[in-house]
Amino acid sequence: MSGRNGLWLVAAVAILLAPGLLLGALVAATIASSSLAGATACATSGFSELLSPFTGGGDAAFTGGGDAMPSAALEADPAAAAKLTVSTLIDGEVVEFTGVQLSNAAHILGAGRAAGLVSRDQIIGVMTAIGESTLRVLDHGDAAGPDSRGLFQQRDNGAWGSYADRMDPQVSAGNFFSALLAVTERAALTPSEAAHRVQGNADPQHYTKYWPAAVAVSETISGRITSLGAGAIVSVGAAAGSASGCGPGSAAAALGTGGAGVSTSVSPSGWASPGSGGLTDTFGNRFHPTELEWRMHNGIDLAAGGCGGQIWAAQAGTVVEAAPDSSGNGTIRIDHGAGVVTKYLHMEADGYLVGVGATVAAGQQIGVTGTSGQSTGCHLHFEVLVEGSRVDPLLFLAERGVGY
Ligand SMILES: [Zn+2]
Repeated sequence: MSGRNGLWLVAAVAILLAPGLLLGALVAATIASSSLAGATACATSGFSELLSPFTGGGDAAFTGGGDAMPSAALEADPAAAAKLTVSTLIDGEVVEFTGVQLSNAAHILGAGRAAGLVSRDQIIGVMTAIGESTLRVLDHGDAAGPDSRGLFQQRDNGAWGSYADRMDPQVSAGNFFSALLAVTERAALTPSEAAHRVQGNADPQHYTKYWPAAVAVSETISGRITSLGAGAIVSVGAAAGSASGCGPGSAAAALGTGGAGVSTSVSPSGWASPGSGGLTDTFGNRFHPTELEWRMHNGIDLAAGGCGGQIWAAQAGTVVEAAPDSSGNGTIRIDHGAGVVTKYLHMEADGYLVGVGATVAAGQQIGVTGTSGQSTGCHLHFEVLVEGSRVDPLLFLAERGVGY
């Protein structure tokens, strides 16, 4: 028995998402989240542009796009995850996860991966820890279980190891997953029912309300879209006060991908993701977060490591622009030949790592993530132009073996 209804004590911004107020609530949620997180060192708000998973257009990217490997394990670096902030919805309330909470979630994914589990099982672990501890290593229990400790509120009954084990994110998660592995019929159960077999709550559906948030957190920190349910992401951005500052190379060092050469994987067709981290906005019409009006969004937005993260060339080509555009958006444009051009926006003045005329390889770092121009927080805005016309980068990349 380790479930605790009463432990859900996050100081969430209480915004009721009545359907008729949805749009206003989304905007308010981002503003509120920004003020909660405080400003980052190099972002106006610390949050990237709005993601609207509730609209038909935005949803398609999350549920219709599919996952090339629906069961493959997710992977996330705890240090890189700790630099992010994810605002999500639980029971209609906006709840923010950041810093140590996201690094704990990365440890949970790591323990699940080490146990040989698939992404759904890993996210069941994240869901359970959200429900038990809001992803914090609690050094206390509650009235129903005063001896419960840690991310999963494991009891002092011998089943969950020593006090130190129960207080260790990776070890306690490993013990949770060992117990989950023994639930051999779990694929036929709902995520909450599977977690219930391990945790033994009074209500088998206790964790159901945490599932969308668990998907949102797991997808964001791993940079993978899983098709395991629409993650209820309100916004994603760089965390406040990131430990190693907010300049070129800081996030790169945390991601362990620093240095020259190819920084990310390249598909067999020669294409690479232009940035790491979660997709935070899709191509199409959307409500502009600062201009407060409907506009066409000409590309996709990626978290791309937040302030100081890495921007990668999507395909081999020649740099034809490396300067701010007329609106102040730091811009790199690469001509790939055959009428295909890609654009990368929002670098700061010191964020250009290539100049006009440079020849680049697919996956090579060309820039540093920033928030110059029409941006509300450090992120990468990425566009694809075919014969001069903008196309949906998600579809374009998906056809070339690069998915989100
Ligand atoms: Zn954008």
